[in-house]
Amino acid sequence: MVDFIKEDVIYDLLQKAQKCEAGEVREIIAKAMECKGLDLSEVAKLLYVEREDLLEELLDAAKFIKNKVYGKRVVLFAPLYTSNECTNNCLYCGFRRDNKELHRKTLSTREIVSEAKAIEAQGHKRILLICGEDPGKTHVDHMVEAMEAIYKSADIRRINVEAAPMKVEDYKKLKDAGIGTYVIFQETYNREVYKKMHPVGLKADFDWRITAIDRAFEAGIDDVGVGALLGLYDYRFEVLGLLMHVQSFEKRFGVGPHTISVPRLRPALGWGLNEIPNEVNDQDFKKIVAIYRMAIPYTGIILSTRERAEFRDELLSIGVSQISAGSKTNPGGYKEDDDKADQFEVSDHRSLPKMLETICDKGYIPSFCTACYRRCRTGEAFMEYAKGAEIHSFCQPNAILTFKENLMDFGTEVLKEKGNGIIHKALTEIEDLKIREMTEEKLKEIENGKRDLYF
Ligand code: SAM
Ligand code: SF4
Repeated sequence: MVDFIKEDVIYDLLQKAQKCEAGEVREIIAKAMECKGLDLSEVAKLLYVEREDLLEELLDAAKFIKNKVYGKRVVLFAPLYTSNECTNNCLYCGFRRDNKELHRKTLSTREIVSEAKAIEAQGHKRILLICGEDPGKTHVDHMVEAMEAIYKSADIRRINVEAAPMKVEDYKKLKDAGIGTYVIFQETYNREVYKKMHPVGLKADFDWRITAIDRAFEAGIDDVGVGALLGLYDYRFEVLGLLMHVQSFEKRFGVGPHTISVPRLRPALGWGLNEIPNEVNDQDFKKIVAIYRMAIPYTGIILSTRERAEFRDELLSIGVSQISAGSKTNPGGYKEDDDKADQFEVSDHRSLPKMLETICDKGYIPSFCTACYRRCRTGEAFMEYAKGAEIHSFCQPNAILTFKENLMDFGTEVLKEKGNGIIHKALTEIEDLKIREMTEEKLKEIENGKRDLYF
């Protein structure tokens, strides 16, 4: 049995944290603003902040950190579900084996490419491939063939993969096929709850799942994404569990997570639950996002369309750096809707162009950048840049260039007007005048028809 997650330590930290005074909370907030992260006992104390004035200070600190590390950029992507067939029976999920109401489908490689092209036609450049776990149908070769075909036939420049745990040799195949980030959620870090929620199938093995990240690293995949499914168990436990997991692999492999996702449990057609066991309210959800931002400032935070439109907009300032848009959660969904094939109910139904308008209205700059992994700025190398906040010198220009491309190829008149204004402002924010000049030159090249320019 792996011992990454020490439940007694978590409960002990939580117990002690309850007595934390306002003065100490403020000291922790001040430390977080140095952008060097927080330890578990500090995080535990922030998790108990309830007083309104302190909560405001906490959210403000997260905004400050987000701005310092990430600037005004928001990276966009779309999920592509290749299959909803699954041999597991995760009680919370619409794809679970016992859901007889679900229309099951595994896309062929041709159908997957057609979905990728439909996503590309929205204006996306980055895809997250997702599927259920069915060894006969969604094995690694299914993913690899899909990736190779998409890279070959569509202008998709980064494919991330969210799939069940694999053996090292299978992760190597994903690596060879050009995976961006490998994403896997532990769902819950509490063994007992995990056992209850995953009664049968390969996913019933907590240890096989929590060691997936290790095997991905061993296979050479050094951009990994983690997450806890919020709503299964006490969120305070989950946040500490996730950070403990992060500490353990960071210690062994020298690299932290590239991203943390914050999936919040949503009702699903044919799920095996009567209600959400530990519902996380909006206030606590905001606090969780802010605390992740403070605890691991250099890690991207991903927010999906599980959340409502106006709430997503609010979360952008607090710490979220990547969002999905125009998403479908059923295989084949970009070509044809089928709400009897969805994994869960999407809350934010805005199209990508609408989302881009909102991002601009809020003073942020959308980014379709996929440069880092193509320039080998992954894993440790990426962390070096990010921790030194040097990532700014690449990211801001790349956001400008990729958004300009998007405006030229897909922008409506309204979006173009808003977007060009934001691009102009973002250019003036590039402090290094040489880089600003180079960005301006590349912008002209894009206007003259060149594509895929980046630093
Ligand atoms: N089947 C693979 C697995 O379980 O690792 C791939 C990912 S699964 C299709 C995507 C993720 O969706 C799960 O890891 C889980 O956290 C989340 N999920 C499942 N049911 C959900 C629900 N009802 N509401 C919100 N998120 C859900
Ligand atoms: Fe299958 Fe993943 Fe859904 Fe579990 S969460 S039922 S493994 S698709």
